Amino acid sequence: MVKSFGSNTVLDDLNFTVGKGERVTLIGPSGSGKTTILRLVMTLEELTGGYIHVGGVPLQYEEQGGRRVRISDKRRRRTTQQIGMVFQHFNLFPNMTVMENIIEAPVHVMGLGKDEAAERAEALLDKVGMAWKKDARPSQLSGGQQQRVAIARALAMDPEVLLLDEVTSALDPELVGEVLGVLKDIAAETDISMLIVTHEMQFARDVSDRVMMFDQGSVVEQGVPDKIFSAPEHQRTQDFLRAVL
Ligand code: ADP
Repeated sequence: MVKSFGSNTVLDDLNFTVGKGERVTLIGPSGSGKTTILRLVMTLEELTGGYIHVGGVPLQYEEQGGRRVRISDKRRRRTTQQIGMVFQHFNLFPNMTVMENIIEAPVHVMGLGKDEAAERAEALLDKVGMAWKKDARPSQLSGGQQQRVAIARALAMDPEVLLLDEVTSALDPELVGEVLGVLKDIAAETDISMLIVTHEMQFARDVSDRVMMFDQGSVVEQGVPDKIFSAPEHQRTQDFLRAVL
């Protein structure tokens, strides 16, 4: 894949695959292109060149007779439905209750009945420890609670892939643990593929099958967490880890 913003090429011919059920964490300095990758997969950014596939299905562009052809909006939507994303700033709908936030997409996108959607939402809220706040509005919740609701909302669409973009960066330090705890449980209990951008190195170590170190839009090195964190080979990885650990 290639991504440019104007004349600034942020990702230059980057290629990687996340396997079914695999958890891959992207680490690296600010501005190295990590969030852009997640936004491209979510189709929140337009790919400049190349292709992205999800579950073998082309996401933004496909190759047809040697030409690169844009996928129709309808097909794009069908594929992005299989992807859940949790953002740094929660992004809950402020005028809806917790329950309404969760059933919105299942009812209006998936076409699920309201009762069934509510039943499923209740189970998901229970999983993230937020069922007791189902009638609250986001503004009545702490950041950690809002983020746990946002995680439940992403799971409500039964995604194949979960994208986590610095989901604890906006939280007060004492609230980080509850959110990471919920994510660790989900990682342990499901086989959802995850692509994670985080500054929480212990979390990356705990949940990842593979860690990819980025710098300036390309992969400096990658491997199992033990190798990257305990015996990084590349100087840039060593410098980065020294600065953040
Ligand atoms: P990271 O997540 O690693 O901090 P980003 O993906 O946010 O990095 O950013 C990578 C580069 O892309 C940066 O140089 C940033 O300025 C640029 N960039 C990101 N989004 C935009 C945008 N919407 N318009 C212009 N440049 C952008």
